[in-house]
Amino acid sequence: MRNPRRSYDENGNEIRPMDLASMREHGARSVMAICQRHGCGHESSINVENWPDDMPVPDVGLKLKCSKCGSKDIKTIPDWSDREPLMGLR
Ligand SMILES: [Zn+2]
Repeated sequence: MRNPRRSYDENGNEIRPMDLASMREHGARSVMAICQRHGCGHESSINVENWPDDMPVPDVGLKLKCSKCGSKDIKTIPDWSDREPLMGLR
């Protein structure tokens, strides 16, 4: 049975999700959590600096609960918005 929190290639093999270590390597320190309950869609950025390196980004959602509706169906993606800017204003 397929895990809904994983992606699969055309042969049905699970694609290894990004973990927090590689997300941090790319400069993101937070994940964006999005409530999947229909009609809610509440979003929140979660700081995961102290979470384990080997935790897959999609699994962070397993530990979260929507503070608005109480749903535990939370999707988590890397939050690139808090990334260190690669370039600044002159
Ligand atoms: Zn919600």
